[in-house]
Amino acid sequence: MTPKVQIGQGHKLGDASPSDSNSFEYICPICSVQLTKDSYKIHLMRCSRLNVKCSICNKAIMRGKEEEHNSEFHVQVNCPACKLLVEKYLLEKHANEECLYRTVPCRWCSIPQSLKHLNKHEEICGSKTVECELFGTRVARKSFIRS
Ligand SMILES: [Zn+2]
Ligand SMILES: [Zn+2]
Ligand SMILES: [Zn+2]
Ligand SMILES: [Zn+2]
Repeated sequence: MTPKVQIGQGHKLGDASPSDSNSFEYICPICSVQLTKDSYKIHLMRCSRLNVKCSICNKAIMRGKEEEHNSEFHVQVNCPACKLLVEKYLLEKHANEECLYRTVPCRWCSIPQSLKHLNKHEEICGSKTVECELFGTRVARKSFIRS
């Protein structure tokens, strides 16, 4: 039998009154909550009894909920765009930073293009001519900037 426990207990920041000179300079190694020197020991005792740290994502998991946590965060899912297998909790990062189908702003016109088409678009977009302020002649945009 396991007693029902509230995971949020004792984790509230700002419980200390403003006049309290204790600063939150301790960090719980399990749930990463900031603590004062006084509350650290008590919190750590309680926290380690209630929670374990996930070795994959470093988040605190309630004891006994490891499997739930794993199936929520660490199952492999297909990226809806590129079909690559990624861990669920990394999907957002993948979509924003790694996915080949993510959109990136064109460096000439700043309109987001899917990465797949970006090269081609930038090639065309960069070849469009613009008025050169220095010489008053029309030149291709890409001859302005060398990267
Ligand atoms: Zn903690
Ligand atoms: Zn995890
Ligand atoms: Zn993807
Ligand atoms: Zn463009």
